[in-house]
Amino acid sequence: LDPQSFSDESKAVIDFIEEYYRNIEKYPVQSRVQPGYLSEKLPDSAPYGSESLEDILKDVSESILPGLTHWQSPNFFAYFQANASTAGFLGEMLCSGLNVVGFNWISSPAATELESIVMDWMGKMLKLPSSFLFSGTGGGVLHGSTCEAVVCTLAAARDKALERLGGDENITKLVVYASGQTHFTVQKAAKLIGITKSNFRAITTSFSTKFAQSPENLRAAIEEDIKAGLVPLYLCGTVGTTSCGAVDPINELANISREYKMWFHVDAAYAGSACTCPEFRPYLDGVELADSISLNPHKWFLTNMDCCCLWLKQPKFLVDSLSTDSEILRNSASESHSVLDYKDWQIALSRQFKALKLWIVIRKHGLTNLMYHIRSDVSMAKRFEHIKDTNPTQSLIAMVAKDHDFEIVVPRKFALVCFRMKPEIESKGTELNRELLNAVNSSGRAFMTHGVVGGTFYIRAAIGATLTEEHHVDDLWKLIKEKAQNLFLN
Ligand code: PLP
Repeated sequence: LDPQSFSDESKAVIDFIEEYYRNIEKYPVQSRVQPGYLSEKLPDSAPYGSESLEDILKDVSESILPGLTHWQSPNFFAYFQANASTAGFLGEMLCSGLNVVGFNWISSPAATELESIVMDWMGKMLKLPSSFLFSGTGGGVLHGSTCEAVVCTLAAARDKALERLGGDENITKLVVYASGQTHFTVQKAAKLIGITKSNFRAITTSFSTKFAQSPENLRAAIEEDIKAGLVPLYLCGTVGTTSCGAVDPINELANISREYKMWFHVDAAYAGSACTCPEFRPYLDGVELADSISLNPHKWFLTNMDCCCLWLKQPKFLVDSLSTDSEILRNSASESHSVLDYKDWQIALSRQFKALKLWIVIRKHGLTNLMYHIRSDVSMAKRFEHIKDTNPTQSLIAMVAKDHDFEIVVPRKFALVCFRMKPEIESKGTELNRELLNAVNSSGRAFMTHGVVGGTFYIRAAIGATLTEEHHVDDLWKLIKEKAQNLFLN
């Protein structure tokens, strides 16, 4: 690693990325390549000698960029956004440039100590009770994904429960609860820690609760399991579900968890970032009764991939479950019990210095600008939702005249708008909206995805890519109307 060529080549890569961002709107948002396209373009074995960066960047431009779906495009409205920012990039650059591995305190004290500080900063920004903070009685850790966070908390909950029940053979009795809207990550995590499919309960949700988990249905399922000799283990409540942005009643779920001695995890992967704004914070009320909570700054908090914050009220249970005692890692700092060894808070041994990235994101933006970012996305989502009322155009009038209109399928809480074109015949609703979505996406001018709740297919416009501005949202609506007009109204 020669410092001079490191600097020159890094600048070339930065120039390349700058050019990419300057042209990002020229690319079709969703990649149009066919499966296997890349093996036709690249050699089938590795080069024997070294190649120039110039040649490599040429290939990135010609072969890789066409195969990208442009998540950073301002016209990306699919899934949930993966926010990038200059601060996030700078943090990632420092993290990768220094390339330290902070698995225990001694392996890089600053990595561990900054992570603890940043987790408390984030926790305070979310107004988490001190029972989740290092400055109180809890603590937090950075993982790469919510899936990892859920696996780890489930393992902690399992081991705690098995100890209480007095034997590992009781694992077959343990039951995990979530709602039908909960991200599949919980079911996957349950499987990974040895809970069979038959002991995973997806509690049904409905239009009547706006797809929030129903405490009554949950209680009924728990009671039935207890009667059958099973043991409630873990409940996941979600603030901002993936499919439609629903919010579970955290306080009521937390109380049920306490009553049945279950571990209660709050998954706020997407909408947790919004809870830094006082107007959204009430959605987390009741979190003080939870055992753990996680959120992904890599979704909506201007932090480049990847970064998931996990806080625990009693980190001891996580450490009891995940700690390893290897001779080669033995050191006096760990043995003094005066330091944290984050290897015991996660699955892997090795770990990136992600805290540096999040620290830089928080410092470069400040809470005010981070809240501004959230609020501006929410206000664009409101604009999109109401645009047909406030700014009718000729084509919309024509559509309304022919009795075609759009409707909101699930009430919006954050910046995800779930809508569909109203079908004349209900049974045609899925086909109609699927066709409309395909037409929008294949234009290359925008990319959205879909959801299904209560049997209703709808289109999701997840507004929140870093570069999205009001005119992109207006253009999205125009595009939808144009495609609807061409497809169904001529
Ligand atoms: N939970 C929710 C509510 C999500 O929306 C997502 C992803 O969109 C996840 C969990 C999964 O997150 P990850 O990819 O970090 O595991």
